[in-house]
Amino acid sequence: CGIVGYVGPQQASGVVLGGLKRMEYRGYDSAGVAVAADGQLVVAKKAGKLVNLEREIEANPMPTSGTAIGHTRWATHGAPNDVNAHPHTSTSGRVSVIHNGIIENFLPLRRELEAAGVVLTSQTDTEVVAHLLAAELDQGATLVEAMRGACRRLEGAFTLVALDAQQPGTVVAARRNSPLVVGLGEGENFVASDVAAFIEHTREAVELGQDQVVVITADDWEVTDFDGSPAPSTRYRVEWDLTA
Ligand code: GLU
Repeated sequence: CGIVGYVGPQQASGVVLGGLKRMEYRGYDSAGVAVAADGQLVVAKKAGKLVNLEREIEANPMPTSGTAIGHTRWATHGAPNDVNAHPHTSTSGRVSVIHNGIIENFLPLRRELEAAGVVLTSQTDTEVVAHLLAAELDQGATLVEAMRGACRRLEGAFTLVALDAQQPGTVVAARRNSPLVVGLGEGENFVASDVAAFIEHTREAVELGQDQVVVITADDWEVTDFDGSPAPSTRYRVEWDLTA
């Protein structure tokens, strides 16, 4: 299980795949990537080792893009197959999300979405978050506002990272009872569940506190709580050496 997001001048799909490799030691059963390009999201996801995902991307190359999210999954709800692999995407295809942890109240949320006519396509606890984000975006929220709104409805443990096709150059992440760090580069920024994901690019890090949301662009970052108030976060320099 690992989570990484990137915004910057590099080919983002390659950067997040590299980050996922750095977190492979944690164990996982599936992997996936989403990039934002030309007003659309392109998603690739595969059960099994990262090499399966890499082969898929070799066969169907990801578009050139500086904005991407990547995930390795340790299944808790739903079998480890291609459909249940993350990212999970809204019906419209506008927003994609990745998640480590467990959404404890996914069942009532799922029932509520189904009652509103949403067709869920996976067996995961995570997919409800994609549809909650889409509902907020449809009502005019920005991605960070949508993330705050969704998080206020969630119970359990989560590191979440989301991408909106209509906001290329922006990645939003949130956490509760699960780790999230920001990596601050020169003209590029990262979010990850583990500094290992970005340490080959930067050692400047910001650790998020409980119930916080961060929005990153290539040259800016901002941390708030789930209500949108500025929130304290701890900036530090990663001193340990690469071992892998
Ligand atoms: N509970 C989610 C799932 O089963 C996320 C698992 C994880 O932490 O990778 O898809």
